[in-house]
Amino acid sequence: MMANKEIVVSGIRSTGFLHLGNYFGAIRNYVKMQEAYNCYFFVADWHSLTTHPDPKDLRGNVYRVLAENIASGLDPEKVSLYVQSDIPEIAELYLLLNMLAYKGELEKVPTFKDKVRLNPDNVNAGLLTYPVLMSADILVHRGVKVPVGKDQEQHLEMARNYAQRFNKRYGQLFPEPVPFNFGDDLIRIPSLDGEGKMSKSENQMATLYLSDSDDLIIKKMSKAKSATGKEEDGSMPEAVKNLFSLMDLVSTPDVIEHFKKTFEDGSIRYGDMKKQLGEDMVKFIAPIREKAKSLQEDQTYLNKIMKHGAEKARESAAQTLHEARKLIGINYY
Ligand code: ATP
Ligand code: MG
Repeated sequence: MMANKEIVVSGIRSTGFLHLGNYFGAIRNYVKMQEAYNCYFFVADWHSLTTHPDPKDLRGNVYRVLAENIASGLDPEKVSLYVQSDIPEIAELYLLLNMLAYKGELEKVPTFKDKVRLNPDNVNAGLLTYPVLMSADILVHRGVKVPVGKDQEQHLEMARNYAQRFNKRYGQLFPEPVPFNFGDDLIRIPSLDGEGKMSKSENQMATLYLSDSDDLIIKKMSKAKSATGKEEDGSMPEAVKNLFSLMDLVSTPDVIEHFKKTFEDGSIRYGDMKKQLGEDMVKFIAPIREKAKSLQEDQTYLNKIMKHGAEKARESAAQTLHEARKLIGINYY
C-alpha cells in the first residue's frame, strides 16, 4: 500500500526549542501530508553538531523536538518519525555524495557564509558540507517532496544537482526532490524585530517558541517592531506587513479585516494590534506547549516511537544503499 504513495522526507535540527517558523514552514505541512504520502520525518541530531557540539544539550533537545512534533499533530503511527543518527546508511550516502560535491560550490552557499560570520572560530568541514548531508537525508529514501521553509530552498537545489550527477555518472537511481508547501510559496516567518528569520539558535527574544509561557508570548509580541503611518508612497511598511502576516496565521478573518480597515483609514493603534496578536498567539501556542510538556516527560514512550520509526526508515535506506553500491561497483562478493 505504502509503495504507491509519493515519498516525503524532512528534518528538524535538535538545536533548541521549536518556534512558529518551524511550525508553519515545516510541521504544519508534515501533519497535512501524513495520510496521503509515505512520510519520513526525522530529528537531525548529526546536523546539530555542526553548530551545537555540546553533549550536555543534545539529549534533551532530541526528545524535545520529538515531543513538539507529536504535540503539533504528527501521528507516529502514520509516519516514520526517527532520529538521524539511528540510520547509518545516511552517513554512508553522505560519503558517496561528497565525491559529487564541489568545494567552490559549497563555499558560495549563503547559509554557509552566514554561519561563518556568526561562528568564525568553528568553521568545520561539517558546516561546509551541510547541504551534502541534507541531500543524503532526502535521497536515502528517494524522497520526492520536501516540506521545508524558504531558508532551505537553495539546499534543495543542491540536492537535485547531486541526484543528477549521481544518475549521470553511475545510472538512474534518484528522483529530483522539490521543496513543498501547501499553498504556493515557501514560508519564511520573520523575527519580531525584523532582523532575519525566527530561529532556534538566534534572535531568541524576537522568536515565538512553542514552549513560551503565555506571559512571555504577550511580552515578546508587545515589543515587536511596528511603524508609524504609511510609507511615503502610501504602501504598507515592512514591519506592518510582518504583523499582518502573523495575523493571517492565527487570527480570525473579522479581526484581520478590522485592523486592515484601521490601517487604511489611518486610525490603527499598533499597541492594540500587538495585544490582539499576543492573545491569538497564546490561544494557538498554549495547547501545543502543554501537550509537548507532558509528552516530554514520557521518555519510554518517545523511545518506543523513535525505535519504531528507525526500523521503518532503515529498511528504506538499506534498499537505496544496496542499489547505490551496486551502481558504483562496490559489490565484490
Ligand atoms: P537553527 O537556527 O538551529 O538552524 P532553525 O530554526 O533554522 O534552527 P532548522 O532545524 O534549521 O530550524 O529547520 C527546520 C525546518 O524549519 C526547516 O524546514 C526550515 O526551513 C524551517 N524553518 C526554520 N525557520 C523558519 C522560519 N523562520 N520560517 C519558516 N520556516 C522555517
Ligand atoms: Mg536552520
